[in-house]
Amino acid sequence: MPTPIYLDYAATTPVDARVIQCMVAHMSVDGDFGNPASRSHAFGWQAEEAVEAARVQIAEAINADPREIIWTSGATESDNLALKGAAFGASRRHLITSSIEHKAILDCCGFLQQQGFEVTYLPPDAWGRTSSEQVREALRDDTLMVSIMHVNNELGTVNDLRSIGEVCRANGVLFHTDAAQGFGKLPVDVEAMCIDLLSLSAHKIYGPKGIGALYVRRSQGLQLAPQMHGGGHEMGMRSGTLPAQQIVGLGAAAELMIEHMDAERAHLAELRQRFLSHLGQIPDSVVHTHPEDHIPGIVNVGIAGVDGETLLLALSGLAVSSGSACTSASVEPSHVLRGLGIADDLAHASLRFSFGRFTVAADVDAAGQQLATIVGRLRGS
Ligand SMILES: *Cc1c(COP(=O)(O)O)cnc(C)c1O
Repeated sequence: MPTPIYLDYAATTPVDARVIQCMVAHMSVDGDFGNPASRSHAFGWQAEEAVEAARVQIAEAINADPREIIWTSGATESDNLALKGAAFGASRRHLITSSIEHKAILDCCGFLQQQGFEVTYLPPDAWGRTSSEQVREALRDDTLMVSIMHVNNELGTVNDLRSIGEVCRANGVLFHTDAAQGFGKLPVDVEAMCIDLLSLSAHKIYGPKGIGALYVRRSQGLQLAPQMHGGGHEMGMRSGTLPAQQIVGLGAAAELMIEHMDAERAHLAELRQRFLSHLGQIPDSVVHTHPEDHIPGIVNVGIAGVDGETLLLALSGLAVSSGSACTSASVEPSHVLRGLGIADDLAHASLRFSFGRFTVAADVDAAGQQLATIVGRLRGS
C-alpha cells in the first residue's frame, strides 16, 4: 500500500532539516556534547551557552525574560507543572478551565479534585471558544487559577487570550494557557495578554519530540512546587540534566516559526481555501472549526449520514485524525466534539485535517477528491 498523505500536523510535525542540523552539533564527540551543569570545564560552559541562547530565543518569541523560561519534556509536563506546581501549597482551592482542554489539563484537574481542589469546567460556545465573560462569572474568592488553551488541538479554534488575561489580572487570579497549538503560529505576548504561565512544545512546530517549556512570570513571585525532584535545576522547579540537543532544537524551531510566521500563515490559508472548496462538493459536510477565529492549518469536518468507522477505514490513503477516541473499553466520541454539543453519530463521522510546512496543493487536492469519492460511495450515490 502506498504511504498515506500526511495531513496530521496537529498531532506532530516532522523535524525541519535546519533544526536537525543545530541538534547534531550538540551530540557527538566532536560537537558540544557536554553537560550544561558541568561548571568546571569548557565542555559544560559551551553546552550551557547553547542552552541559554535557546532560552533567549523562546523568551523573545513570547516577549518574556529568559529567566522566566523553564525547560520541560513537552507541553504535557508543562501543563502538569503549571497546575499542580501552583496548586500544591496554595491556600486557594478553586480552579477554572474549559471542558474541551487537552487531556493533559483535564486529567491534572481531575487529579487535583481528588486532592480536595474544586474545578469549574466552562462549556465552550458552538465553535469551541471560551469567553472572558464566562471566566468572570465563574470567579470565586478562593479562585487560584484560570487555565484556558490558546488554540484547540482538535478544532483549530482560537481563544481571545488577551480578554481572558485581563479579567484574571484585574481579579488577582493566575492565568495559565496551554499554547502548544498556537505558539509560533500566532503572535503571543505574555505582557500584553496578561499571561502568568504558558505551556509550549517543540514537536508541534517542526522541532524534536520530548522537549517543551513553561513560561513562569517572575513578577508574580510564583514558586512552583517541583514535580520532579533531583539536582535543583531550572531554579528548583524542574530537576534533570538539560537535554542540550533537544533544547537547541526547540530554540531553532521557534525562531524559524517566528521569522516565517506571516508567510507560513498565508501558505496554510491558501491550502485551507482549496480544501474548503473541495468540501463544498460534499453535501452535508459541516465544518466545526470557527470560520474566522482559527489557525489556518486545522479543519475539523463532520460528514453527516455516514458511519464514522467505515469512513476512516475507507480513507486509508490519508493520515488524518478522527473524532473518536479509543478508550480501554470502547470507541467514544472525542470529549471536544461532545463538548460542542455535537451528536455522537456526527462526532464519530468527523475528521481533523491538519496541514503544515511540507503540505502542497496536490496533497490537499488528493485529500479532497478521495474524501468526495468515498463519501459518495458510502452514501450509495
Ligand atoms: C500536543 C499537545 C499537548 C501535549 O504536548 P506534548 O509535548 O506532546 O506533551 C498538550 N496540549 C495541546 C493543546 C497539544 O496540542
